[in-house]
Amino acid sequence: MSNEITLGTPERRALIVGCGIAGPVLAMFLKRAGIYPVIYEGQPEPNDEAGFFLNLALNGLDVLDTLGIKEDIESLGTPTTSIVFQNHRARRLGILPQTTTLLKRGLLNKVLREQAIRRGVTVEFGKRLKDVEITPQRTAIARFEDGTEARGDFLVGCDGIHSRTRRSIMPDAPEPRYAGLIDTGGFTTTAGVSPSGGVMRMTFGTEGFFGYQVVAFGEIFWFQNSTQAIEPDRKKLEAMANDQYRQRLLDMHRHDHEPIAKIIRSTESRIGRWPSYDMPSLPAWYEGPACLIGDAAHATLPSAGQGASMALEDAIVLAKCLRDLPDTEMAFAAFEALRKDRVEELVEQARRSGSRKVPTNALTRGIRDLALPFFLKVGAKNAERAYSYRVDWDEKVAWSAGTAREESADARPDPGPNCGR
Ligand SMILES: Cc1cc2nc3c(=O)[nH]c(=O)nc-3n(C[C@H](O)[C@H](O)[C@H](O)COP(=O)(O)OP(=O)(O)OC[C@H]3O[C@@H](n4cnc5c(N)ncnc54)[C@H](O)[C@@H]3O)c2cc1C
Repeated sequence: MSNEITLGTPERRALIVGCGIAGPVLAMFLKRAGIYPVIYEGQPEPNDEAGFFLNLALNGLDVLDTLGIKEDIESLGTPTTSIVFQNHRARRLGILPQTTTLLKRGLLNKVLREQAIRRGVTVEFGKRLKDVEITPQRTAIARFEDGTEARGDFLVGCDGIHSRTRRSIMPDAPEPRYAGLIDTGGFTTTAGVSPSGGVMRMTFGTEGFFGYQVVAFGEIFWFQNSTQAIEPDRKKLEAMANDQYRQRLLDMHRHDHEPIAKIIRSTESRIGRWPSYDMPSLPAWYEGPACLIGDAAHATLPSAGQGASMALEDAIVLAKCLRDLPDTEMAFAAFEALRKDRVEELVEQARRSGSRKVPTNALTRGIRDLALPFFLKVGAKNAERAYSYRVDWDEKVAWSAGTAREESADARPDPGPNCGR
């Protein structure tokens, strides 16, 4: 019996690796564009409890609106309307307006996957990519760890920051950069923490950065960042007992205002921990008929609050390029030209702002407190620029003089730093 998976339609066949955020959304847009996608997900089955929470920004929600699923997502989350920054004594340092939806990552993944399946996309679980072969005819073969393989006209790696697709098609590409920060997060409920009314509170603690928001039914979503110069072993960090990890956080925040310790102490469920990485600029995002999108191409630090939205923007832009341009590699080149400057600017912005979270002494704390209103002004401008980016599905992508542009793009309110013009 052959162990090869065959896809049986005459349309162009797309192999999508990864069913996180970019994968199912790309699949839905490709279906609209008349291309036949199959998603190969490495997890043995859906795990909708995985991960913690994220803030989905307006620009990402706008992509989901084009698919008619924005309301579904918003109904599962809570709006964040502003971020209030405080010092370790709870002195208010400034406020940053927000227009984002805070929701559990597992719920977002579930809705995207279910919507893709409802629209006729096949999702295969337990298909962990091992490597990609590009044939002399410029088609793609995906080989999986279970010994099976799949062939397609092209392949898109949506397999996240530690992308196997990237390592396979670009063995010399740079690896993710460790940012010297550990990201931590959890959920709890505890008495004495007032409802937030859409406000997320963030504190520059003496040894760590702490943020929380109270959502429906009094549940508290919280996160914490602490510095660690040497990259930890991810498996060892994962294996640390919850009680030990909780105590470590309590020690770090012993000089900081309440309810920080109260929130940490009351968290009985598993406290998540992730070393923070981003991606250095890749020389290219595609190799022949295999392309990267989302975190696989350009992961940004979580503090940007834009990684998921960038993955969603990528999905719609790539599908448009594949719909409108006559050749796959031309479509990949156009996609890269349309997206690279915008996402890489965000990656660098996030790295700069991450460096302001490091612990401080009394003098540097004082300087930071004075300078923060200025940084918040810059932050508000950057956020506005990120949020206002819109992609119109109906606009055609054209190719001229070796560079991509979107026809009638002038009609758009704010095309962002790189819309190919
Ligand atoms: C702690 C933390 C907090 C964050 N907070 C935010 C936030 O508030 N707002 C925001 O916009 N972004 C946030 N992000 C970033 C955001 O999570 C990512 O940018 C986003 O998930 C990228 O989507 P993706 O589809 O490219 O990759 P992913 O969501 O990582 O999906 C990759 C998928 O590929 C699968 N996969 C991996 N390897 C293989 C393989 N070999 N074969 C087959 N399948 C494979 C994985 O199982 C997964 O399903 C945060 C990230 C972290 C770590």
